[in-house]
Amino acid sequence: MSLAPLPNLPRVELVLLPTPMHRLPRLSEQLGIDLWIKRDDLTGFAMGGNKGRKLEFLLGDAIAQGAQAVVTCGATQSNFIRQLGAGCSMLGMQCAAAVMDLPHTVKPTSTRLPSDNGNVRLDRMLGVELEAHPNGDWEVLYEFAEQLAVRKEREGLRVYRIPVGGSSPLGAFAFLRASQEVSQQGPPFDWIVTGSSSGSTQTGLTVGFAGSNTKVLGMSSDPEPELVDEFADLANLLGSVTGNPRVWTGADFLLNVDYVGDGYCLPSPAGAAAIERMARTEGIFLDPTYSGKAFAGLLDLVSRGEIGGRVLFWHTGGIPALFA
Ligand SMILES: *Cc1c(COP(=O)(O)O)cnc(C)c1O
Repeated sequence: MSLAPLPNLPRVELVLLPTPMHRLPRLSEQLGIDLWIKRDDLTGFAMGGNKGRKLEFLLGDAIAQGAQAVVTCGATQSNFIRQLGAGCSMLGMQCAAAVMDLPHTVKPTSTRLPSDNGNVRLDRMLGVELEAHPNGDWEVLYEFAEQLAVRKEREGLRVYRIPVGGSSPLGAFAFLRASQEVSQQGPPFDWIVTGSSSGSTQTGLTVGFAGSNTKVLGMSSDPEPELVDEFADLANLLGSVTGNPRVWTGADFLLNVDYVGDGYCLPSPAGAAAIERMARTEGIFLDPTYSGKAFAGLLDLVSRGEIGGRVLFWHTGGIPALFA
């Protein structure tokens, strides 16, 4: 773990840092481990969640570049778009996003999430322009976002493009900083377990704890194990931001894809059970797409003896999706 000073990048203050970190006493006793939780659900910004940290630097960069509008894409129930919309409101910028209910091919057994409540309701309040598209692949969604950005530019706006989930090197930078924040909150952990999808959360933490005895485990909400190669690319770009010459490969990332269930954005029975367990033992709410599945994985891996000791569960937020 390195506490080496990080560069000062353009930043807007959105979240209340440090977020709280505390022990989970009843679950620790039940599981026979020393279990802690990092409360990024309690950022004090736009109903919480891990995207607030990233947006401090993404929107800081957008302002530095003189942006008037921000364009991104994601699932209709995106927590990122909600937090981005709130940041744009605070800065007086337009916010537009191309969305799909499910940006992947749906398995026949899957049910569809209703899409007009939860985050979508908050997006409307914030004035976010949601451009809805029929379900398709991520690549198709990225293309719609690019077309949307080009249309905004033709309207004469200076547009800042943000990749899905805010996973640019600046998003990862925010979680590299978060790794230092945790290290200052207490003794080191054996394991840090976090929900993982677009990857900048896991990438920043992995880079931050590299070379220490803390293992960072991402519990994926997507079924593709090869995402680690994209995380490595992100880490290499982060290295050029921080001036760290180390070369990263997919093998540097611990990504577990065993608890995705039917697919991204589709609730799983194990995830639902994990959400109830956290609520009924510690009074804390998790979300169906990320943190619930991540916690389901944590519970299972602890019961198999694959994770133990002093463990930190990173609560990445997502609560509004409970009301979708
Ligand atoms: C976006 C999100 C994640 C995944 O974070 P990434 O940095 O995209 O990997 C996890 N949990 C919640 C609640 C999220 O909204």
